[in-house]
Amino acid sequence: MTMRVIKKPDDDPKDVFLTCISRVKNVNLKNRLNSVAENVNEAAEEFDQNGIDKSFYHLDEHDNIAGIVTKNEMEKVYTNRMAKTGTPGRPFYEKLKSSAPHAICPLCGHRTVSTLDHYLPKAHFPSLAVVPFNLVPACSDCNKLKLSVVPKTTEEQTLHPYYDDVTADQWLFAEVIEDVPVSIRFFVKEVEDWSDALNSRIKTHYETYGLSSLYISQAGTELANIRSQLNNILEKSSAKNVREHLLEGFQSRKINHNNAWQTAMYRAMADNEWFCKGGFNAI
Ligand SMILES: [Zn+2]
Repeated sequence: MTMRVIKKPDDDPKDVFLTCISRVKNVNLKNRLNSVAENVNEAAEEFDQNGIDKSFYHLDEHDNIAGIVTKNEMEKVYTNRMAKTGTPGRPFYEKLKSSAPHAICPLCGHRTVSTLDHYLPKAHFPSLAVVPFNLVPACSDCNKLKLSVVPKTTEEQTLHPYYDDVTADQWLFAEVIEDVPVSIRFFVKEVEDWSDALNSRIKTHYETYGLSSLYISQAGTELANIRSQLNNILEKSSAKNVREHLLEGFQSRKINHNNAWQTAMYRAMADNEWFCKGGFNAI
Protein backbone atom coordinates (compact mmCIF):
# COMPACT_ATOMS: atom_id res chain seq x y z
CA MET A 1 0.00 0.00 0.00
CA THR A 2 0.95 3.46 -0.22
CA MET A 3 3.04 4.52 2.67
CA ARG A 4 3.63 1.77 5.17
CA VAL A 5 4.63 2.21 8.77
CA ILE A 6 7.94 0.83 10.04
CA LYS A 7 9.02 0.61 13.66
CA LYS A 8 11.52 3.34 14.50
CA PRO A 9 15.10 1.97 14.71
CA ASP A 10 16.48 1.63 18.21
CA ASP A 11 20.20 1.81 17.42
CA ASP A 12 21.99 4.54 19.33
CA PRO A 13 22.97 7.24 16.75
CA LYS A 14 26.27 8.02 18.48
CA ASP A 15 27.17 4.35 18.63
CA VAL A 16 26.38 3.97 14.91
CA PHE A 17 28.55 6.98 14.05
CA LEU A 18 31.48 5.83 16.21
CA THR A 19 31.28 2.33 14.74
CA CYS A 20 31.27 3.74 11.19
CA ILE A 21 34.42 5.79 11.82
CA SER A 22 36.22 3.13 13.87
CA ARG A 23 38.61 2.19 11.08
CA VAL A 24 39.55 5.66 9.84
CA LYS A 25 43.35 5.60 9.49
CA ASN A 26 44.11 9.27 8.89
CA VAL A 27 44.81 10.61 12.41
CA ASN A 28 43.75 14.16 11.68
CA LEU A 29 40.44 13.06 10.13
CA LYS A 30 39.82 10.52 12.87
CA ASN A 31 40.35 13.12 15.60
CA ARG A 32 38.05 15.58 13.88
CA LEU A 33 35.32 12.97 13.33
CA ASN A 34 35.58 11.81 16.94
CA SER A 35 35.24 15.37 18.17
CA VAL A 36 31.84 15.82 16.48
CA ALA A 37 30.26 12.61 17.83
CA GLU A 38 28.24 14.62 20.32
CA ASN A 39 27.08 17.00 17.57
CA VAL A 40 25.83 14.02 15.57
CA ASN A 41 24.05 12.75 18.65
CA GLU A 42 22.39 16.13 19.22
CA ALA A 43 21.36 16.33 15.56
CA ALA A 44 19.79 12.88 15.91
CA GLU A 45 17.86 13.92 19.02
CA GLU A 46 16.66 17.07 17.32
CA PHE A 47 15.59 15.11 14.25
CA ASP A 48 13.72 12.62 16.41
CA GLN A 49 11.89 15.38 18.28
CA ASN A 50 10.95 17.09 15.01
CA GLY A 51 9.76 13.75 13.68
CA ILE A 52 7.48 13.34 16.67
CA ASP A 53 6.29 16.96 16.23
CA LYS A 54 5.89 16.52 12.41
CA SER A 55 8.14 19.51 11.84
CA PHE A 56 11.21 18.32 9.91
CA TYR A 57 11.11 21.61 8.01
CA HIS A 58 12.31 23.36 11.18
CA LEU A 59 15.73 21.76 10.86
CA ASP A 60 18.41 24.03 9.41
CA GLU A 61 20.47 23.10 6.39
CA HIS A 62 24.23 23.17 6.95
CA ASP A 63 27.39 22.36 5.00
CA ASN A 64 29.70 21.33 7.83
CA ILE A 65 29.56 20.08 11.41
CA ALA A 66 30.71 22.64 13.99
CA GLY A 67 33.18 24.00 11.46
CA ILE A 68 35.24 20.85 12.05
CA VAL A 69 34.01 18.21 9.62
CA THR A 70 32.93 19.04 6.06
CA LYS A 71 29.85 17.90 4.19
CA ASN A 72 32.00 15.85 1.81
CA GLU A 73 33.74 14.09 4.67
CA MET A 74 30.40 13.15 6.21
CA GLU A 75 29.01 11.96 2.89
CA LYS A 76 32.05 9.70 2.63
CA VAL A 77 31.43 8.31 6.12
CA TYR A 78 28.05 7.14 4.87
CA THR A 79 29.14 5.93 1.44
CA ASN A 80 32.47 4.32 2.33
CA ARG A 81 31.92 3.27 5.95
CA MET A 82 28.24 2.35 6.20
CA ALA A 83 26.73 1.60 2.79
CA LYS A 84 29.78 -0.26 1.50
CA THR A 85 29.98 -4.05 1.95
CA GLY A 86 32.50 -5.21 4.54
CA THR A 87 32.77 -1.91 6.39
CA PRO A 88 32.14 -1.46 10.15
CA GLY A 89 28.85 0.40 9.62
CA ARG A 90 27.46 -2.10 7.12
CA PRO A 91 25.61 -4.26 9.71
CA PHE A 92 23.58 -1.15 10.69
CA TYR A 93 22.86 -0.50 7.02
CA GLU A 94 21.70 -4.10 6.55
CA LYS A 95 19.56 -3.99 9.67
CA LEU A 96 17.81 -0.78 8.58
CA LYS A 97 17.32 -2.10 5.06
CA SER A 98 15.70 -5.29 6.32
CA SER A 99 13.32 -3.44 8.65
CA ALA A 100 10.66 -3.10 5.92
CA PRO A 101 8.08 -5.90 6.19
CA HIS A 102 8.27 -8.32 3.22
CA ALA A 103 11.07 -6.10 1.85
CA ILE A 104 8.43 -3.83 0.30
CA CYS A 105 9.43 -0.19 -0.09
CA PRO A 106 7.42 1.79 2.49
CA LEU A 107 7.37 4.90 0.29
CA CYS A 108 5.54 3.46 -2.73
CA GLY A 109 4.22 0.34 -1.00
CA HIS A 110 4.93 -1.66 -4.10
CA ARG A 111 8.51 -2.17 -5.28
CA THR A 112 11.27 -4.06 -3.50
CA VAL A 113 13.67 -2.39 -1.06
CA SER A 114 17.15 -2.06 -2.55
CA THR A 115 18.76 0.84 -0.72
CA LEU A 116 18.47 3.35 2.13
CA ASP A 117 16.98 6.76 1.48
CA HIS A 118 18.05 9.84 3.46
CA TYR A 119 14.78 11.47 4.49
CA LEU A 120 16.68 14.75 4.80
CA PRO A 121 19.44 14.65 2.14
CA LYS A 122 22.99 14.21 3.42
CA ALA A 123 24.17 16.94 1.02
CA HIS A 124 22.11 19.46 3.01
CA PHE A 125 22.17 17.80 6.43
CA PRO A 126 25.62 16.18 6.81
CA SER A 127 25.13 15.73 10.56
CA LEU A 128 22.30 13.31 9.71
CA ALA A 129 24.26 11.29 7.14
CA VAL A 130 24.43 8.13 9.28
CA VAL A 131 21.65 8.83 11.79
CA PRO A 132 19.31 5.81 11.75
CA PHE A 133 16.14 7.94 12.22
CA ASN A 134 16.97 9.68 8.93
CA LEU A 135 17.62 6.46 7.00
CA VAL A 136 14.59 4.79 5.45
CA PRO A 137 14.58 1.53 3.48
CA ALA A 138 13.48 2.30 -0.08
CA CYS A 139 13.37 1.01 -3.63
CA SER A 140 15.80 2.63 -6.04
CA ASP A 141 13.02 4.41 -7.97
CA CYS A 142 11.69 6.15 -4.86
CA ASN A 143 15.24 6.93 -3.79
CA LYS A 144 15.92 8.66 -7.12
CA LEU A 145 12.54 10.38 -7.36
CA LYS A 146 12.95 12.40 -4.19
CA LEU A 147 16.55 13.40 -4.96
CA SER A 148 17.65 16.15 -2.61
CA VAL A 149 14.43 18.02 -2.02
CA VAL A 150 14.39 19.88 1.28
CA PRO A 151 10.94 20.63 2.78
CA LYS A 152 10.40 24.30 3.67
CA THR A 153 6.87 24.00 5.07
CA THR A 154 4.72 21.39 6.80
CA GLU A 155 2.92 20.70 3.54
CA GLU A 156 6.12 20.02 1.63
CA GLN A 157 7.15 17.17 3.91
CA THR A 158 6.68 13.73 2.44
CA LEU A 159 5.56 11.05 4.86
CA HIS A 160 8.18 9.41 7.06
CA PRO A 161 7.57 5.69 7.75
CA TYR A 162 8.99 5.89 11.31
CA TYR A 163 6.89 8.86 12.39
CA ASP A 164 3.77 9.18 10.23
CA ASP A 165 0.99 6.65 10.51
CA VAL A 166 -1.70 7.34 7.94
CA THR A 167 -3.10 3.84 7.83
CA ALA A 168 -6.24 4.30 9.95
CA ASP A 169 -8.49 5.79 7.26
CA GLN A 170 -8.87 5.32 3.54
CA TRP A 171 -7.48 8.24 1.52
CA LEU A 172 -6.43 6.45 -1.65
CA PHE A 173 -9.39 6.04 -3.97
CA ALA A 174 -9.92 4.97 -7.55
CA GLU A 175 -12.55 5.26 -10.24
CA VAL A 176 -13.34 3.21 -13.30
CA ILE A 177 -12.93 5.14 -16.54
CA GLU A 178 -15.84 4.00 -18.72
CA ASP A 179 -14.03 3.97 -22.00
CA VAL A 180 -12.38 1.64 -24.49
CA PRO A 181 -10.11 0.30 -23.21
CA VAL A 182 -11.52 0.38 -19.69
CA SER A 183 -9.02 1.71 -17.15
CA ILE A 184 -8.67 2.67 -13.50
CA ARG A 185 -7.66 6.12 -12.26
CA PHE A 186 -6.34 6.74 -8.75
CA PHE A 187 -6.66 9.84 -6.59
CA VAL A 188 -6.14 11.06 -3.04
CA LYS A 189 -9.14 12.27 -1.04
CA GLU A 190 -8.84 14.29 2.16
CA VAL A 191 -9.76 12.57 5.40
CA GLU A 192 -12.16 14.88 7.23
CA ASP A 193 -10.93 14.04 10.71
CA TRP A 194 -7.31 14.73 9.85
CA SER A 195 -5.54 18.11 9.87
CA ASP A 196 -5.08 20.12 6.66
CA ALA A 197 -1.34 19.71 7.12
CA LEU A 198 -1.50 15.92 7.20
CA ASN A 199 -3.86 15.80 4.23
CA SER A 200 -1.48 18.06 2.29
CA ARG A 201 1.49 15.88 3.18
CA ILE A 202 -0.28 12.78 1.87
CA LYS A 203 -0.81 14.60 -1.45
CA THR A 204 2.82 15.76 -1.52
CA HIS A 205 3.96 12.21 -0.88
CA TYR A 206 1.67 10.79 -3.56
CA GLU A 207 2.89 13.29 -6.15
CA THR A 208 6.57 13.24 -5.21
CA TYR A 209 6.78 9.49 -5.70
CA GLY A 210 4.67 9.42 -8.88
CA LEU A 211 2.33 6.88 -7.33
CA SER A 212 -0.56 7.58 -9.67
CA SER A 213 1.18 6.26 -12.78
CA LEU A 214 2.70 3.34 -10.86
CA TYR A 215 -0.75 2.21 -9.69
CA ILE A 216 -2.42 2.76 -13.06
CA SER A 217 -0.05 0.32 -14.72
CA GLN A 218 -0.43 -2.22 -11.91
CA ALA A 219 -4.22 -1.94 -12.12
CA GLY A 220 -4.08 -2.63 -15.85
CA THR A 221 -2.27 -5.90 -15.20
CA GLU A 222 -4.63 -6.86 -12.38
CA LEU A 223 -7.66 -6.21 -14.59
CA ALA A 224 -6.23 -8.38 -17.36
CA ASN A 225 -5.68 -11.12 -14.78
CA ILE A 226 -9.24 -11.18 -13.43
CA ARG A 227 -11.14 -10.50 -16.68
CA SER A 228 -11.81 -14.16 -17.51
CA GLN A 229 -12.95 -14.85 -13.96
CA LEU A 230 -15.38 -11.90 -14.03
CA ASN A 231 -16.71 -13.16 -17.38
CA ASN A 232 -17.39 -16.58 -15.89
CA ILE A 233 -19.33 -15.05 -13.02
CA LEU A 234 -21.34 -12.80 -15.36
CA GLU A 235 -22.18 -15.67 -17.72
CA LYS A 236 -23.18 -18.11 -14.98
CA SER A 237 -25.09 -15.65 -12.82
CA SER A 238 -25.43 -11.86 -12.98
CA ALA A 239 -23.87 -8.42 -12.69
CA LYS A 240 -25.00 -8.48 -9.06
CA ASN A 241 -22.76 -11.48 -8.43
CA VAL A 242 -19.85 -9.77 -10.18
CA ARG A 243 -20.35 -6.86 -7.81
CA GLU A 244 -20.50 -9.15 -4.77
CA HIS A 245 -17.33 -10.90 -5.86
CA LEU A 246 -15.51 -7.57 -6.26
CA LEU A 247 -16.89 -6.28 -2.96
CA GLU A 248 -15.55 -9.36 -1.20
CA GLY A 249 -12.20 -8.71 -2.89
CA PHE A 250 -12.30 -5.12 -1.65
CA GLN A 251 -13.09 -6.09 1.94
CA SER A 252 -10.36 -8.70 2.10
CA ARG A 253 -7.75 -6.27 0.74
CA LYS A 254 -8.98 -3.47 2.99
CA ILE A 255 -8.34 -5.60 6.08
CA ASN A 256 -4.76 -6.03 4.93
CA HIS A 257 -4.11 -2.41 3.87
CA ASN A 258 -6.57 0.50 3.88
CA ASN A 259 -4.66 2.39 1.21
CA ALA A 260 -3.30 -0.29 -1.07
CA TRP A 261 -3.94 0.39 -4.76
CA GLN A 262 -5.70 -2.99 -4.83
CA THR A 263 -8.10 -1.89 -2.07
CA ALA A 264 -8.96 1.28 -3.96
CA MET A 265 -9.26 -0.57 -7.25
CA TYR A 266 -11.62 -3.29 -6.00
CA ARG A 267 -13.86 -0.72 -4.34
CA ALA A 268 -14.03 1.32 -7.54
CA MET A 269 -14.83 -1.74 -9.65
CA ALA A 270 -17.54 -2.95 -7.24
CA ASP A 271 -19.12 0.52 -7.10
CA ASN A 272 -19.34 0.89 -10.88
CA GLU A 273 -22.52 -0.54 -12.41
CA TRP A 274 -21.30 -0.25 -16.01
CA PHE A 275 -18.18 -2.18 -15.08
CA CYS A 276 -20.06 -4.99 -13.30
CA LYS A 277 -22.48 -5.35 -16.24
CA GLY A 278 -19.58 -6.21 -18.51
CA GLY A 279 -17.64 -2.97 -18.83
CA PHE A 280 -14.56 -4.94 -17.78
CA ASN A 281 -14.62 -6.44 -21.28
CA ALA A 282 -14.12 -3.07 -22.96
CA ILE A 283 -10.70 -3.60 -24.46
ZN1 LIG B 1 9.41 2.71 -3.54
